[in-house]
Amino acid sequence: VGDSAAIDREVDSVCPYCGVGCQLTYQIRDEKIVAVQGREGPSNLGRLCVKGRFGFDYPNHPSRLTRPLIRREGVPKRMDPDFDPANPLTHFREADWDEALDFAARGLAHLRAGYGAEALAGFGSAKCSNEEAWLFQKLIRIGFGTNNVDHCTRLCHASSVAALIECIGTGAVTASFMQATQADVIILTGCNPAVNHPVAATFFKQAAKRGTKILILDPRGQALNAYAHKVLRFEPGTDVALFNAMLNVIVTEELYNQSYIQEHTEGFDALKQHVMEMTPEAMSPLCGIAPDDIREVARLYARADKAMIFWGMGISQHTHGTDNARCLISLALACGQTGRPGTGLHPLRGQNNVQGASDAGLIPMVMPDYQPVSDAQVKAAFEELWSTPLSGKPGLTVVEIMHAIEAGQIKGMYILGENPAMSDPDLAHARAALATLEHLVVQDLFVTETAQFADVILPASAWAEKDGTVTNTNRQVQMGRAAVPLPGEAKPDWWIIQALANRMGLNWHYQHPSDVFAEMKQGMASLDHISWERLQAEQSVTYPCPADDQPGLDVVYSDAFPTGNGKARFSPTRPLPPDEPVDSEYPVVLTTGRQLEHWHTGSMTRRARVLDQLEPEAVASLAPAELARYGLQPGDPVTIKTRRGEITLTARIDPQMPEGMVFVPFCYVEAAANILTNPALDPYGKIPEFKYAACRLSPASDV
Ligand code: SF4
Repeated sequence: VGDSAAIDREVDSVCPYCGVGCQLTYQIRDEKIVAVQGREGPSNLGRLCVKGRFGFDYPNHPSRLTRPLIRREGVPKRMDPDFDPANPLTHFREADWDEALDFAARGLAHLRAGYGAEALAGFGSAKCSNEEAWLFQKLIRIGFGTNNVDHCTRLCHASSVAALIECIGTGAVTASFMQATQADVIILTGCNPAVNHPVAATFFKQAAKRGTKILILDPRGQALNAYAHKVLRFEPGTDVALFNAMLNVIVTEELYNQSYIQEHTEGFDALKQHVMEMTPEAMSPLCGIAPDDIREVARLYARADKAMIFWGMGISQHTHGTDNARCLISLALACGQTGRPGTGLHPLRGQNNVQGASDAGLIPMVMPDYQPVSDAQVKAAFEELWSTPLSGKPGLTVVEIMHAIEAGQIKGMYILGENPAMSDPDLAHARAALATLEHLVVQDLFVTETAQFADVILPASAWAEKDGTVTNTNRQVQMGRAAVPLPGEAKPDWWIIQALANRMGLNWHYQHPSDVFAEMKQGMASLDHISWERLQAEQSVTYPCPADDQPGLDVVYSDAFPTGNGKARFSPTRPLPPDEPVDSEYPVVLTTGRQLEHWHTGSMTRRARVLDQLEPEAVASLAPAELARYGLQPGDPVTIKTRRGEITLTARIDPQMPEGMVFVPFCYVEAAANILTNPALDPYGKIPEFKYAACRLSPASDV
């Protein structure tokens, strides 16, 4: 591989994994991808991480679905430990497309007729294209007749989006991560870019080498600590205390930017008053950081000419996740650190198209471009665009939908590319809820854990098998292209959504994703001056884009914020404890997340040969002292128990872990981390507290 003589052709596309959105070239031989090379995309400059470079062969896995499946009569809906996804015919029978689509649509329509539209819901996917996200939410809103449509943003950055919309009027980043190389100071908090956004991490390393001071605020250590000017490892779940103490320093030492505040913000006086009592001395016992260290990072950030804040799910996945993000926004607004090159706010988005899927309306309370479903003008505009009446009632979010299933309110679902039987908190409840659905349609590449509960499974397309656009964390809309043929009878996702829609009484005639993109432009001002043809020619255009001949704005809101009056708003917060603090019975903090080699629930990367060989088994990362406390050696089995369940997996020594904490990746079905996690939600973003649950550990032999 890599020998160009051994390659039949090359196709340019975009990486299917994280929100960095690296451009790549698939190298193809005998209609199979045999290698991947990085391209000169704006967010990767030719670079790729291990997932992008080696995680390309999952579509050829022996368990790939190539025909529609219908559940066999009498097979119970449950996760059967003996079920083999490579041999699904023990539980399902094959069907042709007509039968499978008729069955899928008839079941949903029957429930709609019997129980009403609100008895149905849909989960779309951030792994699909913008066009597929648009079609999916359109089908749920006008075909099902409900706004019960959501996707994995609810599990990653919903709280960040809620805070950003509240404070600055938009849910997207104000500047790309490439701007870090122009900043004097950057704060990285609640993120681990070397693992989760590896190519973005290379920009941070470059920035550090050029003299940018990197400040890392995180309970866990990480590889980028080697590049940091200062690291504050605060107590888990005390983010708001630390950030408010920093704001207190900025206020009491008058380090704020008065002219920026006057011109661009409102509510600063209230914030000033609010943080007065939250001195570094008062907050230090909570967050575990010495007052002088708090002062030092606050001064460094506030005095910098240009500074940026990057954050990840360590910020967002808390019951106070929205408050965490509000604090970060307040820091930037108080110091005037937005709207100029080298400044900005940047929640590092997770999946390859979570930005685009959110923009395209896979969110229950907003239409495309974050326009409230309950706004009469918005509703009227989309009713005119789609020539059909719409519900103005905000829909339910991911975890709320699972609760509504348990309560018997949601009876039927259409799940595209999502895997709630692995990704939802408190899996025992989530899986039990899925088992009670009267009709579940799953569209995916494999019989995922969720598909094991399905009545009908529709074989879908891998990213490299279809055309479509994606939007990365930088707001860069990019073109993905079909590189290899679909296997067997599998179909592009947009085709399947349309076929289902037409069987539910709609009359759609899209011939190609470019037709869908053209319709999206009518409902999404964010796509102004971005056309399918431009993306084909230029590969990437950033939104907002002011003209057809401009590349789009890397840095936004120099003059005004999109808030109505143009001003951003401060939103004061108070420290709150985690929903489930550690105690004598459950004394260890459980935190969950991803590994470098694996992605989301592992449905793709655990079927990618190289990636699964690199990280083949579930591990629990523990500090050396924590291992010693339980008499464990690296490699020993360890059992982790919470109030919701227990799992046993392999102990791994990790000097970057603080004592009193264990990290578990959530991609391993054989030791599913979300059996343990707490479903308590942030009240604003409705995101579960994946980053903090009380647990206890024991050597597995003791259990
Ligand atoms: Fe793909 Fe993200 Fe890795 Fe880039 S950094 S190659 S987008 S997984």
